[in-house]
Amino acid sequence: MTLAAPAKSGLPLVAIVGRPNVGKSSLFNRIVGRRQAIVEEEAGTTRDRHYGEAAWHGLTFAVVDTGGLMGEAVSGPYATPISEQVGQALEEADAIFFVLDVQTGVLPLDHDVAALLRQASQPVYLVLNKADNAALEAETGEFFRLGLGEPQTVSALHGLGVGDLLDRVVERLPQAPARDDTVSCRLAIVGRPNVGKSSLVNAMLQEERMIVAAEPGTTRDAVDTALEMDGKKIVLVDTAGIRRPGRLGRGVERAAVTRARRAIGRADVVAVVLDASQDIVAQDMHILGAALEAARGLILVLNKSDLIKDDAEVLDRRARQLRWRARFVPWAPAIWSSALTRRNLETLLRTAVTVAEERRRRIPTGKLNALLKRATIEHPPGAVHGRAVKIFYATQTGVEPPTFLLFVNYPDGVHFSYQRFLERRIRSEFGFEGAALRLILRKRGEPNG
Ligand code: GDP
Repeated sequence: MTLAAPAKSGLPLVAIVGRPNVGKSSLFNRIVGRRQAIVEEEAGTTRDRHYGEAAWHGLTFAVVDTGGLMGEAVSGPYATPISEQVGQALEEADAIFFVLDVQTGVLPLDHDVAALLRQASQPVYLVLNKADNAALEAETGEFFRLGLGEPQTVSALHGLGVGDLLDRVVERLPQAPARDDTVSCRLAIVGRPNVGKSSLVNAMLQEERMIVAAEPGTTRDAVDTALEMDGKKIVLVDTAGIRRPGRLGRGVERAAVTRARRAIGRADVVAVVLDASQDIVAQDMHILGAALEAARGLILVLNKSDLIKDDAEVLDRRARQLRWRARFVPWAPAIWSSALTRRNLETLLRTAVTVAEERRRRIPTGKLNALLKRATIEHPPGAVHGRAVKIFYATQTGVEPPTFLLFVNYPDGVHFSYQRFLERRIRSEFGFEGAALRLILRKRGEPNG
């Protein structure tokens, strides 16, 4: 797959909602075109979400269709599947397409959706689908009465009216700003509810030595905050989202992961906050997984350490637990913090800047290959189908994340554990502390036959 799910990509997001059979997925396909959609199964449900990317008048944005299974029972903050679907759109989208069927007119379920959408803070576009001919285009009167503005007739099937709809939406979508080179680090502070994220952010922003300025984020209400430390500018991504108290109830877990993903998508470095006074739980691991997937910089923060500072046994247990649960990221620095006593807040910010710098580090090809040669002599990559696996050559092709391209005779023969070994050797020689690395194996024939 070449696309990252937009929730992870930080693009402005347009959500398509509406009752079943109005043509949401046809509209989705029409907008996304032939580009491949990403299907993301939602944790704990049989529903899936279709994500795609689209571009219109030079603006790239993400589209999501949460069509899924509408018959299934749902518990949680929203009473019915449809209100759950709309609720999620209200939570995460920058604009909403409310799709109706011009041929059937307004049905009771449409009224339910309209009632929820009238509370939306983002723009809502009334899309009257299946307007396949001029006679149907005229049938818009009753739709006006939904109180959601002027309807746009379209035919997703024939592509009619879709361009006009996109003209209207891109006008009001937030534009992704150009990368700001004066920023040393964009830091996302993520974690499950109640680990102390907002307390940490508030404590950081109260620090006198840090100069603070709010800046608009790329997406609706994603307000970022810039602060300065040691003369370096650090942007706390989605400060507003962190500081807003979380919702209560069953939807919280998913909402927390969704929000974390969005913040991670716009960050260089991710601080995954854990509650040091509690065991590490599955949801901590989900959020850690989301940070890893995105190949950002990673810092593990054990907050509320004040609660256990005098308890050597708990301290030791937590450290061992963390080493085990985070054994696949031995390169991520771990910091004991306390928002209450302000322990290590500056250390956390300094570490974030260092990790961001490590992500930009470039290794000269000569040095990299010298290391590779030593490593493969010391520990050869083994064999596949009776033939020795050979790594001919490596080069760093990119930064953020540092990406290494390795030319190999049998890429499939390079076992995952061997890639880990190479990664460890690269790190012990060159650093990259806190930075996720990417190794790409590419097939190449033997030199000289
Ligand atoms: P969030 O949901 O992750 O943003 O968590 P909050 O910042 O709202 O904190 C949840 C609770 O933990 C609140 O009651 C805080 O006062 C408390 N808390 C946060 N950080 C610390 C800390 O470092 N030490 C202690 N003892 N309590 C903390």
